[in-house]
Amino acid sequence: METEDKEIICKECGFVFVWTKGEQDFFVEKGLTNTPSRCPVCRKKKKVRHTFTNNYNITCATCGKKSTSPFKPEQPKKVLCQECFLAQEKEQAD
Ligand SMILES: [Zn+2]
Ligand SMILES: [Zn+2]
Repeated sequence: METEDKEIICKECGFVFVWTKGEQDFFVEKGLTNTPSRCPVCRKKKKVRHTFTNNYNITCATCGKKSTSPFKPEQPKKVLCQECFLAQEKEQAD
């Protein structure tokens, strides 16, 4: 099947970007059947957000402050807020 460059409107920012033949071939090679719905910039942004977003609500075991963490707390009772975590690190270092 012949492929050709496709214009796609990013569903995130509305930017019209070109999905090139080369990229389409790459998708096929990887066994991907879905069409990208975001422009390269938003795709990148999403990755970054995914890495750095504070997703999990935690309550600090030391000061009781509510905070968020990008990591899923494995032991919720031992979770510390960033300040207490850093303070503890410092104590251990001394
Ligand atoms: Zn976009
Ligand atoms: Zn704390």
